[in-house]
Amino acid sequence: MSEDIKVENPFHTARFKAPRKGKKPPKLLAIVHQSGCTGCEVCIAGCPVDSIELVPGPDPLNPGYQQMVEIDLSRCIGCQNCSQDCPWETITMYQHDDAFTAWGNETLSSELYVDEEKLEKL
Ligand code: SF4
Ligand code: SF4
Repeated sequence: MSEDIKVENPFHTARFKAPRKGKKPPKLLAIVHQSGCTGCEVCIAGCPVDSIELVPGPDPLNPGYQQMVEIDLSRCIGCQNCSQDCPWETITMYQHDDAFTAWGNETLSSELYVDEEKLEKL
């Protein structure tokens, strides 16, 4: 993972979705090990708060090829549906405080969180 500071991408459409309810953060957060993600979208269908987003593949003309997903940590409620549903067992639930380190280790490509340098270009 890059050492650059990651910030929420304010231009991603997820930022227009309803925020997570409740004052306390969830005990668990889901992290996708993107190296094992096939982009099958099974997890998206089962998320009750629509907090799983597609990351398009590298070819802008064929974004569905080599796509993967990532989870919006600011909206995940820790229900565990996705970790149970993923056919490739590539989503793991982490304790809230450990999830951000895990995100850094497991996230290869992100649309939701970007480094500050990239943000300036958006
Ligand atoms: S744990 Fe639940 S809320 Fe969080 S991303 Fe998975 S399905 Fe969505
Ligand atoms: S269900 Fe698993 S393999 Fe399919 S898109 Fe979600 S994380 Fe990736």
